[in-house]
Amino acid sequence: PTAMKEVFIETPKVRWTDIGGSADVKDALTQVIEWPLKFPEKLAELELESSKGILLYGPPGCSKTLTAKAIATEAGLNFIAVKGAEFIQSYVGESERALRGIFDKARQASPSVIFFDEIDAIGASSRGQQSGLNIVTTLLNEMDGIGGLQGVLVLAATNKPEILDPALLRPGRFDELIYIGPPNLEARIEIINLRTRSKPLDPDVNVAALALRTDGYSGAELVSVCMEATKSYMKRWVELETLGEQMSTTEAWITQQDFDHALGK
Ligand code: ATP
Repeated sequence: PTAMKEVFIETPKVRWTDIGGSADVKDALTQVIEWPLKFPEKLAELELESSKGILLYGPPGCSKTLTAKAIATEAGLNFIAVKGAEFIQSYVGESERALRGIFDKARQASPSVIFFDEIDAIGASSRGQQSGLNIVTTLLNEMDGIGGLQGVLVLAATNKPEILDPALLRPGRFDELIYIGPPNLEARIEIINLRTRSKPLDPDVNVAALALRTDGYSGAELVSVCMEATKSYMKRWVELETLGEQMSTTEAWITQQDFDHALGK
């Protein structure tokens, strides 16, 4: 019996255009993702090896998972997502076996991506004193035997890169580090627009002003503000629907007030 959840192979559908502020990250990834796919012969001729491991790091809720999925979608790779904490098993050797199983699965599904969310749960250097040493070694061994974009590419996310075992960051392992920070003003505008574009938004809602007021919000927090505002509208809609009435024109929108209310929460 294993405590490991069953592994699912997904075909993600997240495009770069679904991620507000993704332009910078996309740029940072061009050499790592585009070159190996477009110019494999040239890279080989120059003896440039393509990266097999990319570490996405930054604060929670700021699109690391979305970015991993977009990489897979745009490069046409199958996607296997696992959480670091899922590998912390009580039986000796079980975590290592589970990890090898993931890589087997990924090889069968190649070209594919394995995405380790919260990689620090298995890759923290402090785990070296405990049984963690074996899981890190297993991960390193498995990464030595994969082919990157043409075979199996490993992506990982963490908000504590500083606690990772340095062995994980050596060439041939996670040798590309990409910072994914909180959305800047422009990105916040994009996220709000993305999250309201298919909804009845009052044209008087000032998206730029909302973005200015939400400095320091994560992408996930912005999405939740948009959801709260939409819920206020939904509440009005349900009340009138129950009464069998048509919404008046002023009530038929998600309004600035709905956003003010959401931001107050
Ligand atoms: P964690 O470290 O908590 O796992 P994460 O960085 O992986 O977070 P995601 O899971 O990618 O963050 O984002 C969480 C949710 O927040 C997404 O599903 C999405 O709804 C929203 N979100 C975050 N950033 C953005 C963004 N830049 N554009 C659009 N949606 C975003």
